[in-house]
Amino acid sequence: EALSKILDIKGSIRVFCRIRPNLLAEKRKVSEPITVGSERIRVKFGGTRKDFEFDKVFLQDASQESVFVEVEPILRSAMDGHNVCVFAYGQTGTGKTFTMDGTNEQPGIIPRALEELFRQASLDNSSSFSFSMSMLEVYMGNLRDLLAPRPSSRPHEPVMKCNLNIQTDPKGLIEIEGLSEVQISDYAKAKWWYNKGRRFRSTSWTNVNEASSRSHCLTRISIFRHGDALEAKREISKLWMVDLGGSERLLKTGAKGLTLDEGRAINLSLSALADVIAALKRKRCHVPYRNSKLTQILKDSLGDGSKVLMLVHISPSEEDVCETICSLNFAKRAR
Ligand code: ADP
Ligand code: MG
Repeated sequence: EALSKILDIKGSIRVFCRIRPNLLAEKRKVSEPITVGSERIRVKFGGTRKDFEFDKVFLQDASQESVFVEVEPILRSAMDGHNVCVFAYGQTGTGKTFTMDGTNEQPGIIPRALEELFRQASLDNSSSFSFSMSMLEVYMGNLRDLLAPRPSSRPHEPVMKCNLNIQTDPKGLIEIEGLSEVQISDYAKAKWWYNKGRRFRSTSWTNVNEASSRSHCLTRISIFRHGDALEAKREISKLWMVDLGGSERLLKTGAKGLTLDEGRAINLSLSALADVIAALKRKRCHVPYRNSKLTQILKDSLGDGSKVLMLVHISPSEEDVCETICSLNFAKRAR
């Protein structure tokens, strides 16, 4: 409770930074440019240095558990009726998917959040909660349903035709036409659907890492509350957990086979997201949601009363220092 109060006081947008540990292949490279404190990162480059402030910095050795501890208060906000968006941002290979999905041994934010929602629901005896889940991927402005029944004949063929429409209802709520929404009655069921969506995401691409780095993967949990017997169940909030496409700039990644269009689509939608967050932070009247599919989808969850957590991922390697600075600048803009 104390933590969720702090969250309220500090405003609705929080920005964390996580530094990926050195991978085996990098072991011999020096990673001097980054020095850190618990809320600060300093990057040295070309004889100068720059400092960046965060709400929290996770060092190379930070456990999944220690990250989740800091994310948990925002889940409580979702149970309290606030819409919540948790984003993993960063250059490809910096650990976005590790943070959101994790591994079987080291589960990330999404599986832990699912477990925590059911745990909190079971503690609440005044009213009962229920949850539903959707998963989708946004690729070059196309929306793909990750929980849709898969065409059984050719399970490995990319299903790129799937292009769902985004509708706004009279109340201003966003609806994605035809998107599967499954009821999840307990953690085991939630985990089953979530794994299905994840598998679908990866098996439908020929080159998993390349393709998934050029798409955004969104997991949505809708939270419903049932009052007494007379009151119908109603949706109180949405929790979005988003593994964003790689933020690397086009020129550098062109060499790695990223096509211009795909890269451009990702870059455009990431900057549209930054613009929306910047406008919300400054309480501007006009928030430019319309500039990308990503921000259109999140429109009714990224506004008044909602909470945003941006987890910016960076590489420890000196080689990546330019991308690191770009990511840190993005974070600065959001915070
Ligand atoms: P991204 O999704 O940003 O492209 P990944 O999550 O796929 O990056 O991470 C790239 C590699 O680094 C993966 O092999 C992943 O397991 C590993 N990795 C990333 N972050 C961590 C971490 N904090 N601890 C251990 N391994 C990590
Ligand atoms: Mg990834």
